Amino acid sequence: MSVASIFESMEYGPAPESKDMAEKWLNDHKPNFKQFINGKWVAPKSKKYMDSLNPCSQEKLASIPVSNKEDVDEAVKAADKALKGWVKLGGHGRARYLYAIARQVQKHARLFAVLESMDNGKPIRETRDIDIPLVARHFYHHAGWAQIQEERLPDYKEIGVVGQIVPWNFPMLMLSWKIAPALAMGNTVILKPAEFTSLTAILFAEICEKVGLPAGVVNIITGEGDTGAAMVDHPGIKKIAFTGSTEVGRIIRRAASGTEKKLSLELGGKSPFIVFQDADLDSVVEGVVDAIWFNQGQVCCAGSRLLVQESIAEKLYDKIRKRMETLRIGNALDKGIDIGAIVAPVQLKTIEEMVQKGVDEGAELWQPSWECPSEGCFYPPTLFTNVAPAATIAQEEIFGPVLVAMSFRTPAEVVKLANNTRYGLAASLWTENINLALDIAPKVKAGTIWINCTNMFDAASGFGGYRESGFGREGGLEGLYEYVKLKVEDEFKLAPETKKLTEKLPSGENGIPSLDKTAKFYVGGKQKRPDGGYNTNVLDTKGNVIGEVGVGSRKDIRNAVEAAHAASKWAGTTEHTRAQIIYYMAENLEARATEFAERLSSALNQSTKKSMQEVEASIDCLFTYAAYADKYDSSVHATPHRNVTLAMKEPIGVMGVVCPNEAPLIGFINTVMPLVAMGNTVVVIPSETAPLSATDLYQVLETSDMPGGVINIITGDKEELTKVLANHDDVDGLWYFGSKEGSSMVQNAAAENMKRTWVNFGKNRDWFNPTHVNAQDFLRHATEIKNIWVPYGE
Ligand code: NAD
Repeated sequence: MSVASIFESMEYGPAPESKDMAEKWLNDHKPNFKQFINGKWVAPKSKKYMDSLNPCSQEKLASIPVSNKEDVDEAVKAADKALKGWVKLGGHGRARYLYAIARQVQKHARLFAVLESMDNGKPIRETRDIDIPLVARHFYHHAGWAQIQEERLPDYKEIGVVGQIVPWNFPMLMLSWKIAPALAMGNTVILKPAEFTSLTAILFAEICEKVGLPAGVVNIITGEGDTGAAMVDHPGIKKIAFTGSTEVGRIIRRAASGTEKKLSLELGGKSPFIVFQDADLDSVVEGVVDAIWFNQGQVCCAGSRLLVQESIAEKLYDKIRKRMETLRIGNALDKGIDIGAIVAPVQLKTIEEMVQKGVDEGAELWQPSWECPSEGCFYPPTLFTNVAPAATIAQEEIFGPVLVAMSFRTPAEVVKLANNTRYGLAASLWTENINLALDIAPKVKAGTIWINCTNMFDAASGFGGYRESGFGREGGLEGLYEYVKLKVEDEFKLAPETKKLTEKLPSGENGIPSLDKTAKFYVGGKQKRPDGGYNTNVLDTKGNVIGEVGVGSRKDIRNAVEAAHAASKWAGTTEHTRAQIIYYMAENLEARATEFAERLSSALNQSTKKSMQEVEASIDCLFTYAAYADKYDSSVHATPHRNVTLAMKEPIGVMGVVCPNEAPLIGFINTVMPLVAMGNTVVVIPSETAPLSATDLYQVLETSDMPGGVINIITGDKEELTKVLANHDDVDGLWYFGSKEGSSMVQNAAAENMKRTWVNFGKNRDWFNPTHVNAQDFLRHATEIKNIWVPYGE
């Protein structure tokens, strides 16, 4: 080929990256790799191995151990043994190790990048320029957090032994997102890479060895789903951090429910890529390439749903098709390719089936004219237009290079379309109008919003989902909380539930005239009678009847949830207004302090003085959350780009609150008000044994200008009502303060729609002890953090 003809066609020649170093490393480990447990290389007890294949050629790269339960157990023992010393080392000591790891990752960056591309099939350009540099960045960044942990998180401590399970799409990057914060905060870890891509995790273990990391602090075991399940089931593991599919996330959540294991789940997505008519379309096209053809579309936050304003839709589709024609697909180690191979034949088959479904359901398919390589697992970039919002390909994660396009007319319509998904991982917004972008960003339910950019990641910024994309964040300050617990948690005491004091009676059959004595429910700002017509006696601690409340049913909860949704404007009310209303509640509670104290005394058979203390503590608590309403600030993360990365604290949505039975007034105020202060609307089940302090609050709420529907109260059988809330698809989160069994039930049921839960496993805190009711911890549980990336400059 002459130089002139090259200029003519602008054809790229092959530009292969050398694989000599990686092949030597692989050869050095033949015939089989080993697990890294307690600082040693050990063969699996199962004596079983699995093949790791190169997706670009299907050639075998290595034999990887399949670790079994006994291996997991050995790793847990090693991690447990190492824990004390690792904690004792202190922040500075741990920072030095993390820093050393970062340096070694940089030193071996080329080997890591080549190995990752060979094992996963992703272009070397991506592993070299994105994955591995970000891995080093994560370890550097978290070395810093270890150094300042005691200063920035003085009330928190490590969780203990942590089990981490990662997927195959970003093997090393996901490893670093998990291991760096865990080690920084003083935990020890057992990490399992995905079965298709274990090699770089093993290389990482060699780095740990090289820097002299104490034995057992990091353990790497390999294997399939069963190995992961054995980790989830192991009682010695105190936290599971999982990244993978929503389906497996759900299995893990159910398996871990009731075990007191902390859990963070980073799951799937179907993220919208929104283009307004004034966007710079050439930038948009490059954005689309990065959004859906980066890593062959095998990206949890891939911009896989293209939503385009109608007036420019056809023009944009044409530009995208033209660009697709120029994309280059091929061997991952060719520095000139844009798209590599799909990780495995089974994944390729899933993509083919989903695409066929798209065609069958009537969408219009477009693929470039060129052919994919005949060997290996390749799939061409694909565009679907004319897609119905409810089509399978518009709703399900395809996890491949397939873009699904739809059009919209107005900003309000695109918000609805964007949120028409069970996921909520990320969104990308394209417009030259920054006011429009910043108006839309808070309305899209997703953990990350990129404005005029996409797939931007950094260790300083949190990443994670809303809804069925999981919960918890990785990166930034918000990510650290996944690896610590409040020191004071160790003081919470397992206590039997207060004895049930109520019995169910048809209305009016208790000897008390029901007309004026029965406290009703409070729904949508109005007092409502129970749907089923049942009331129940309220007894004092000596068994005397002191009143009557309604017995709530499924229907009553449904009505309350509806009312809470109808009041969602509360989230948009200014923080100042929310604060004013909560102060006003305090004022009105104080005006009736004696009455509330008498009610508490009669319910709990205690002195007025003691009851007055609870009323005063409740007024104090109202002041605290009124104060925080406009002081629990969002922040701006220092990411190393020309970017303002806004970490916005947002309300979660409609929350269920199941109050503790003990301390009926302060228990109510301290659980409901942080949520309300942050803009959530709530459905509350008050203390079952002493509900009258809560029902007395109706008048306080009414006289304090609390909008109807923000706080809804249903009395009745605590466990039955909790079950309804836990199973309700339109409840976004549930706080439960009750029994161990109730906590387990809540976690198990919540796996269905992945609602956020916060439960106490039957362990009571002292509601009068300020360290037990750390306001910032309550506020953290009452909010989600959305990171909005706003680039600046020319
Ligand atoms: P997967 O859920 O099949 O597997 C993930 C990991 O879980 C693997 O290591 C696997 O061996 C293990 N596993 C499988 N069954 C298990 C069980 N019952 N118990 C414990 N562990 C088990 O996911 P995948 O196919 O490897 O990865 C693709 C998925 O990951 C996609 O849905 C993608 O969206 C998601 N993902 C999410 C993020 C995020 O940050 N939210 C990032 C990357 C990938």
